[in-house]
Amino acid sequence: MLLRIALLLACLVLLVLGAEDYYKLLGLRKNATDREIKKAYKNLSKKYHPDKNPGDETANQKFIEIAEAYEVLSDEEQRKIYDQYGHEGIKQHKAGGGQRQGHDPFDLFSRFFGGSGHFGHQGGERRGPNMEVRVAIPLRDFYNGRKTEFTIEKQAVCSACEGSGSSDGHVDTCDKCSGRGVVIQRQQLAPGLFQQVQMHCDKCGGKGKTIKHPCPVCSGSRVVRESETHELEIEKGMPKGVRITYENEADESPDYVAGDLIVHLVEQDPVLGTQEHERTDGTFFRRRGKDLFWREVLSLREAWMGDWTRNVTHLDGHVVQLSRKRGEVVQPNTVEVVKEEGMPIWHQQLENNEGEVYGDLHVEYVVVLPDMMDKSMEKDFWSTWEKYRKKGGVRLDETLGRPDGPIKFPDDGGHDEL
Ligand SMILES: [Zn+2]
Ligand SMILES: [Zn+2]
Repeated sequence: MLLRIALLLACLVLLVLGAEDYYKLLGLRKNATDREIKKAYKNLSKKYHPDKNPGDETANQKFIEIAEAYEVLSDEEQRKIYDQYGHEGIKQHKAGGGQRQGHDPFDLFSRFFGGSGHFGHQGGERRGPNMEVRVAIPLRDFYNGRKTEFTIEKQAVCSACEGSGSSDGHVDTCDKCSGRGVVIQRQQLAPGLFQQVQMHCDKCGGKGKTIKHPCPVCSGSRVVRESETHELEIEKGMPKGVRITYENEADESPDYVAGDLIVHLVEQDPVLGTQEHERTDGTFFRRRGKDLFWREVLSLREAWMGDWTRNVTHLDGHVVQLSRKRGEVVQPNTVEVVKEEGMPIWHQQLENNEGEVYGDLHVEYVVVLPDMMDKSMEKDFWSTWEKYRKKGGVRLDETLGRPDGPIKFPDDGGHDEL
């Protein structure tokens, strides 16, 4: 309550000082439609709500100004006056008793978002269910970090009727049930035997209220489906499956304060990008925690004789060079660990802010043998092998037959202990 009084006082001070242009305040052009005005109010009032900016005077002030701007621009008559005479005109109009004096900004807020105009952190406020969505992000964004957007569809309080469900703002209490939504009926079970049963009121459908002229936008249901776009900041090294909470951004209803929207970040399957910066080898790295994995293919010559270089482009385009000098053998399936070429470690997982720390890149070498060779090449290799095979003197193909006679074991002259 104290907060409300303080805000109303601030509101009065503001009237005296003269305020910022209403269109500018709501981020609108002069020819904005009613819908745009409502949309702007909804977005900004949520952003600057005092519950979301505790102790921030500038935000609180802004919250009041936004409500005021909305009240004027959403009223056809006041908007006309404002367009012609500006703040001064509105002041005189209000002083002349043409309009009810400054509204409580929290009342306005509650018309759009249900509840009592607050975000329901105090007890007793009804809260809607949380909503979970999965957003798939390419590995590149987990590595580099990125600011992006996503759009979801959700239930929103109808702005045309401000959640009343009525086109003229008139909502009557149902006369059949007196607003309780239920009626008591006596049922005869047998002659002289009655039972009282509580029944759903059929006149108002259990709502307790009736509307003569339903809102044409929501047909009286008070809510509509709407798509809403949110900013999404992917931080460098965020783990897969991380959950980001957008407070009070789940389904809205005039009957409760919206729950939270929870975004689950998952990793997208790699696809070859269409743009230059997306065409990196890194696109096909696999991630496990802070480490990355890559498979590099070597030819027989390279694996065996050495003298090769590979440039692997990382997820941000920098190059990791792999190489061996002549004479350095790489055995098939060897894993080379390249230090600090893995994922950046998420700042929340770092102790006392150590700056940028990276995991490792694990490179597994796969050796591919040639299965087609130039005839003369094959001849050359064959003769080279023959030469060295004969030198070695052991003809394995001739000594591979079954042994004749019993197998001889080395005679150690004793028995195993049983
Ligand atoms: Zn409506
Ligand atoms: Zn009723």
